Amino acid sequence: MSEERLETVPCPYCRGIILVGAKRCKYCQVDLAGLWPQESADRGPTKNPLLATILSIVFPGLGQYYCGRRDKATMFVFAFVVFVGLFYWLTFPWLLVAAWAGVDAFQEARRTR
Ligand SMILES: [Zn+2]
Repeated sequence: MSEERLETVPCPYCRGIILVGAKRCKYCQVDLAGLWPQESADRGPTKNPLLATILSIVFPGLGQYYCGRRDKATMFVFAFVVFVGLFYWLTFPWLLVAAWAGVDAFQEARRTR
């Protein structure tokens, strides 16, 4: 057998060598689904919530794009363009969209961690 990238651990019940994240022990057949922490799954590179927030405040949607949420990024860019187009004489609506996008980007970055 060549070198495997998968991690192994001894089964907590029978000490047989099993794969990390295995749903069931192949030796004693015990259910192991609840044994593994949820974040053990590889979800790609982690995102910096602060950077995501700053990006979305500088330009709404940019933080969402950074988090890989292109659908949300498009929505924020659209909202930003509409707000600026309709209320360009006011500063407040622009700040509202920027703050909203900033908070959302922060939560999105935390979620992708
Ligand atoms: Zn076992």
